[in-house]
Amino acid sequence: KKKIAIMTSGGDSPGMNGVVRACVRMAIHMGCDAYCVYEGYEGLVQGGNLIRKMEWHDVRGWLSEGGTLIGTARCMAFYERPGRLTAAKNMILNGIDALIICGGDGSLTGADKFRAEWPSLIEELVTKGELKPEQVQRYKHLNIVGLVGSIDNDLSGTDATIGCYSALARICYAVDLIEATASSHSRAFVIEVMGRHCGWLALMAGVATGADFIFIPEKPSEDNWREEMCSIVRQHRDLGKRKTIVIIAEGALDKQGGKITPTMVKDLLADKDGLGLDTRITTLGHVQRGGTAVAYDRMLATLQGVEAVRAVLEATPETETCFIAITENKIIRKPLMEAVIDTQKVAKAIQRQDFDEAMALRDAEFSE
Ligand code: ATP
Repeated sequence: KKKIAIMTSGGDSPGMNGVVRACVRMAIHMGCDAYCVYEGYEGLVQGGNLIRKMEWHDVRGWLSEGGTLIGTARCMAFYERPGRLTAAKNMILNGIDALIICGGDGSLTGADKFRAEWPSLIEELVTKGELKPEQVQRYKHLNIVGLVGSIDNDLSGTDATIGCYSALARICYAVDLIEATASSHSRAFVIEVMGRHCGWLALMAGVATGADFIFIPEKPSEDNWREEMCSIVRQHRDLGKRKTIVIIAEGALDKQGGKITPTMVKDLLADKDGLGLDTRITTLGHVQRGGTAVAYDRMLATLQGVEAVRAVLEATPETETCFIAITENKIIRKPLMEAVIDTQKVAKAIQRQDFDEAMALRDAEFSE
């Protein structure tokens, strides 16, 4: 009987429980034993009670639970080979044949590294006498499949990451609440949303709430952003609008690569010699991650979880490590490292202030 383990890693996102539920149940349905690795890679490195066999009923009701019930963590030890060596040993001691990881690009990079190193890790464990040759016989090759759990929708090669629509729904709800009070007092609100390298949440929230102005990392503001924003806000006010909503991504930049902060925007809107608006800042923070997954993320988690189990069972030593994407409404397998490298290219282009390149890469993603 094959043993398939499921893990959530990196930042949590709504829908991760749906992934675990789908993987556990699909693994059992396919005649395998299902395991959960608790606390991300930390669970693999520490082993023991953090690697647990799961039954069908253990994941009952998980679709409607927020966060990740099997925990997640940032694990320093897994960045280094000795940590991965211990992880390999724990996997073999628990008889795990295949691993499904739901996380962001960091978690998926770690997964790919682990799979690539696997044969040499096994060899080292035998050479050091930590495991006997007969113990590792069955585990010459490791099958790994990735699922993308992230609220930022920041992975190349997939139209949506598990959790991004829940975070977007949460932002829209929060903006609706703020709008009511903004209108009453004729106030302006600067709302900061998550997204250090990816402005998807800010952009889509701007569209979905009809915000007056938005700031995102990929398309930094022109030198005259102050005049532009004030003129748009003034126009809207002249047309009778009693509220002003500006949405700003955490990683918002100007053309020189300087950070645009909520305080800078607030001071500008409140400037007595300019618009003079009574302006407040609201940082949505972790509210965006919390709560249950919206229907779309539950659907994505379930369909992709089922496909991930199929993919690990069909993988051979020759197949490239894959992740499960959704492209034009189809659930498909794609090469994992290609997507990770493309994702990192955008972040690097933003870092070196090559914004034309960052925008071209994003355009290419969406016209793929
Ligand atoms: P988020 O999108 O929320 O940041 P992430 O998966 O990108 O999620 P990271 O903190 O980058 O989050 O990665 C999660 C864990 O994956 C790390 O704590 C580490 O254990 C492992 N990991 C990340 N990158 C690597 C790597 N290059 N090599 C080995 N392990 C890694």
